[in-house]
Amino acid sequence: MRYDFCVVGGGIVGLSTARELLRRRPGASLVLLEKEPTLARHQTGHNSGVIHSGIYYEPGSFKADLCRRGVRATTEFCAEHGIDIAPIGKLIVATDPRELGRLSALESRAADNGIEVRRLDSAELHDEEPSVVGDAALLVPSTGCVDYRLVCEALRTEIEKAGGEIVTGAEITAIREDASHVLVSSADRLWQAERFVACAGLQSDRLAYLAGITPGVRILPFRGEYYRLSPGRSEIVTRMIYPVPDPELPFLGVHLTPTIDGGVTVGPNAVLGMARERYRKFSLSPRDVRDIATFPGFWRMARSYARVGLAEQWRSISRRAYLDECRRYCPSLRLADLNPMEAGIRAQAVDARGRLLHDFAFEQTERMLHVLNAPSPAATSALPIGELIVDRVIGG
Ligand SMILES: Cc1cc2nc3c(=O)[nH]c(=O)nc-3n(C[C@H](O)[C@H](O)[C@H](O)COP(=O)(O)OP(=O)(O)OC[C@H]3O[C@@H](n4cnc5c(N)ncnc54)[C@H](O)[C@@H]3O)c2cc1C
Repeated sequence: MRYDFCVVGGGIVGLSTARELLRRRPGASLVLLEKEPTLARHQTGHNSGVIHSGIYYEPGSFKADLCRRGVRATTEFCAEHGIDIAPIGKLIVATDPRELGRLSALESRAADNGIEVRRLDSAELHDEEPSVVGDAALLVPSTGCVDYRLVCEALRTEIEKAGGEIVTGAEITAIREDASHVLVSSADRLWQAERFVACAGLQSDRLAYLAGITPGVRILPFRGEYYRLSPGRSEIVTRMIYPVPDPELPFLGVHLTPTIDGGVTVGPNAVLGMARERYRKFSLSPRDVRDIATFPGFWRMARSYARVGLAEQWRSISRRAYLDECRRYCPSLRLADLNPMEAGIRAQAVDARGRLLHDFAFEQTERMLHVLNAPSPAATSALPIGELIVDRVIGG
């Protein structure tokens, strides 16, 4: 079949891109190909459901700009589609006097990014959240939560209404670009398109290789393991509670997150996984392990982050150690409160020097665009990311 546009990936970034292509080119033919039987099966369906405010990100970066626009776009999109959002706000809590400097740095970054925050001292923090302790905190009112799977369902409806086709169970195994089109194939089908966009999350480097691009980064899977508080303990906090993050890492630290269904999740941590798309603890894929072990950037990263990595591994094995991390800001949590739930797996692009890419990254040819790194907050930012991709693919 011949199409104007072919998008690979039925996560939130692929869906948002497909929707935006059809909004800009009404009547165009478009196919979205997803290898799983349903949409949002990987990162998008395994995240914390947070609509991030954008406070953490370097002013001028894609992340800062797209996140700020994403909050507004997601809020409007959800209102239009009757999807519930809980605008509960969040607290970033310093639990050690040494973290106060970092908290102040975050406060000025929030100002640079135009995000409203309020600094609380220890007593004010206690008034706001009686179960939470700390030396100081930042209250970020613009953070909310949502179920991103519902956002994806609404995107699917819009794409199909606009005439787009969504094909599930279609794993792309070959991509060839020539002067007039891009040929995309699975084991038993072939699609031809004038323009091609890959939003393949945990497989994005592999899709680039399939298309003849050497991406310069490898995707390393970082598991984010969660617990869920027992139902009787969900009242323990009313807002999201985050520690002060390590600015060297693209992860935010184990946090307490009230979810849109009334529960509270604890997590996620960030431990290197041995399989990109298998969710059970200790899952292992020989191909994924080989791709990690043969990548020089992995060994360089391992040397740079050995101490942090080992501490995370230990907290992954020991529920007591995981609990201790949360008890720094919520001391009344008990071991019995933590009920294991399914992990998520982040697609983290790492370069050959072992650096973890913090920002979104793209690779483009004449007819193709590959999204190589779409880390958190890509769910929050998905609608403006779709706009940015479409600007690049067909012009603004
Ligand atoms: C634990 C965790 C917590 C997070 N928390 C938040 C949060 O609270 N807020 C936030 O904004 N962001 C959060 N994120 C980040 C956010 O979820 C992701 O950045 C976002 O979902 C990425 O979307 P995506 O479409 O790029 O990838 P994905 O959702 O992974 O989708 C990629 C799709 O491509 C498909 N695919 C891959 N290869 C092929 C192939 N060969 N053929 C066909 N299809 C293929 C896959 O099956 C998959 O469905 C979190 C992520 C994780 C893992």
